[in-house]
Amino acid sequence: MNISNAVSIVLVEPSHPGNIGAAARAAKTMGIESLVLVNPKRFPDPEATVRAVDAADILERATVCISLKEAVRSCTFVVGTSMRKRGLPCPQILPRQLGSRVGHELKRGPVAIVFGRESSGLSNDELDLCQYVTAIPSMSSLNLAAAVQVICYEIFMAAGEHDTVDCEDALATSMELERLFEHLQTVLLEIGFLDPRQPKLLMRRLRHVYQRARLTQVEVNILRGILSATQNPASQ
Ligand code: SAH
Repeated sequence: MNISNAVSIVLVEPSHPGNIGAAARAAKTMGIESLVLVNPKRFPDPEATVRAVDAADILERATVCISLKEAVRSCTFVVGTSMRKRGLPCPQILPRQLGSRVGHELKRGPVAIVFGRESSGLSNDELDLCQYVTAIPSMSSLNLAAAVQVICYEIFMAAGEHDTVDCEDALATSMELERLFEHLQTVLLEIGFLDPRQPKLLMRRLRHVYQRARLTQVEVNILRGILSATQNPASQ
């Protein structure tokens, strides 16, 4: 897997088609060719095509999804971009470290870098789908396509440093992790550990624990087996 086919730039609900085109162009200049759009306000749109210049092919091949969850379902490394401070922050990674980390991650599965709305960025629920969040050091927030350019530049600069082959177990995909979290939540409700009237940040904290662990598919199966056994102790 390489940066051209296995790194996706995901734009969540972009409202300006010009930004979609400019983001496609920014990605292509850095060798990244996969663009995923979650509920774009206007797409396809002539303004996007004009702003894409030589990257119109990327727009033609862009995938449109109805949710971020669907957009990243097959990815094994998902990173959100945000400069906003959060109550319970997701683990942070600097753009430069991210560039080099992506090279390693590509040996294990597809990578998604997620960008937020021009008006309001990414929601906490959307950041819950991410293993890390990265903030570009800046005085104020960048234009969406400018943020795509900076992140893609870091990935491009670090590419090529990682050409050895790892033979590690397959990592769990985002979809497999989401199923684990749903299963975990169900069981925690069933056993009375999670109080639906006062859920607080329990699920978000548990997500952070499991996201840090970079679970493999085998490990997710073991954890889900334990959850099933908790639900049906007699059948074991
Ligand atoms: N007003 C929004 C910012 C929107 S900028 C907010 O308060 O969150 C649109 C998107 O560009 C952001 O969601 C993020 O994906 C990206 N972006 C802009 N500036 C950034 C920065 N300094 N670091 C990381 N991402 C940034």
